[in-house]
Amino acid sequence: MTGTVHVIGAGLAGLSAAVSLTERGVRVVLHEAAKQAGGRCRSYYDPTLGLTIDNGNHLLLSGNSSALGFMRTIGAPADALSGPAEAEFDFADLKTGERWQLRPNRGRLPWWVMSASRRVPGTSAVDYLAPLGILRAAAGKGPGLGGTIGESMACSGPLYERLWHPVLLAALNTDPKESDVGLAAKILLETLGAGGEACRPLVAVAGLSAAFVDPAVDYLSARGAEIRFGRRLRSLAFGAGRIDGLVFSDGPQDLGPDDGIVLALPPWVAADILPGLASPQSYRSIVNAHFAIVPPPGAPLLLGVVNGLTEWLFAYPDRLSVTISGADHLLDTPREDLSARIWSELSTLTGLAPERPSWQIVKEKRATFAATPAEAARRASAVTDHANLVLAGDWTATGLPSTIEGAIRSGTTAAQALLNGARARNKLRGAA
Ligand SMILES: Cc1cc2nc3c(=O)[nH]c(=O)nc-3n(C[C@H](O)[C@H](O)[C@H](O)COP(=O)(O)OP(=O)(O)OC[C@H]3O[C@@H](n4cnc5c(N)ncnc54)[C@H](O)[C@@H]3O)c2cc1C
Repeated sequence: MTGTVHVIGAGLAGLSAAVSLTERGVRVVLHEAAKQAGGRCRSYYDPTLGLTIDNGNHLLLSGNSSALGFMRTIGAPADALSGPAEAEFDFADLKTGERWQLRPNRGRLPWWVMSASRRVPGTSAVDYLAPLGILRAAAGKGPGLGGTIGESMACSGPLYERLWHPVLLAALNTDPKESDVGLAAKILLETLGAGGEACRPLVAVAGLSAAFVDPAVDYLSARGAEIRFGRRLRSLAFGAGRIDGLVFSDGPQDLGPDDGIVLALPPWVAADILPGLASPQSYRSIVNAHFAIVPPPGAPLLLGVVNGLTEWLFAYPDRLSVTISGADHLLDTPREDLSARIWSELSTLTGLAPERPSWQIVKEKRATFAATPAEAARRASAVTDHANLVLAGDWTATGLPSTIEGAIRSGTTAAQALLNGARARNKLRGAA
């Protein structure tokens, strides 16, 4: 492209688009409404805890190839993500006190389900065939047309309660029973279906910003991209089949004939700015609880918890943090109650004293779009009716649920779509 590309929104989707374009020598200006980049995936200092925490604990898997590729490109520190060398997931049942470790083998052939010591206690190998129903229901169907997980597999029994429910809920942030089979199938195929090698859990122990955001901002700045914080896009100036200008909170910005735009905004903002845009309309929240206490020696980095309020317990060097997904039912629960209930569970799980350390509860109301068939069918593609405008964001039609992997993939897709459009226009000009 000979013009400038204005990327609007510096969440992971916008950063990914900006990095992709910069890599190809395109001049980029990145505009972000907030004072910092990262959007829904970032770190900040919390004065109550006296610690830098993430807006929410984020889990990646080693099969998240786009996220890991992005980190390599931006030169993220090699130790920015930590996790076990093999696919190992520690679990605890708060009701029975049982503990177990799920250990899928490295390769694609899932022989681990034959080994009682690698699978969930109280289950048999044949139980693990249940998700085939998801794959069957999703096969060959368009987004949202395969129905729900509840319609395609039995959502009850020990294996469901101890494995499929926690794993699918974490991946989709929506009650699996009402979740779209297409989104679930995509996740299953890219992780468990690809073998244990693709399922190693990875956590940004030094923080999400250190892993994804700061190195991306440094990469862009070092290559001449301009980053403007505190610049909120208010509206677009619509021309004939293209966008002629951008209107920011601090004034208008004209666009040249070869300039492009990547709109990498959350869906509710994008829909306001682009009337008639197909975008998800319902969301699910995530509640995180953080406790300023050093974890006891030997605490696993990640612990799946069943039969409690706590779902996943992350043991960072300076804190214990809990994630509760699909947490809309907790939005009205007072923070004090939540923190007391969660700490009581953590005290049982870790053996730490019942006295609560300093705590913080973070409720992200619109953490992700609801992974239902209705929402899966409402996602827009990167290409729009406007020749110089493309879309990015975890909510665009990536086929994945709202995740880091989806956001990063959407950014590269949008960048490629813009370059393809520019190439096609240049060809036409050449022919004329
Ligand atoms: C609590 C929580 C836990 C999560 N856990 C996981 C997890 O474990 N694993 C995982 O893979 N994913 C997880 N996710 C999802 C993941 O964080 C998101 O999918 C991803 O960060 C979305 O990136 P995005 O760039 O698409 O959107 P956003 O991060 O929302 O970025 C949009 C950007 O646009 C900016 N903006 C908004 N309006 C304007 C405007 N008018 N003008 C200019 N800029 C504007 C915003 O400030 C923001 O920076 C979680 C999300 C949350 C909230």
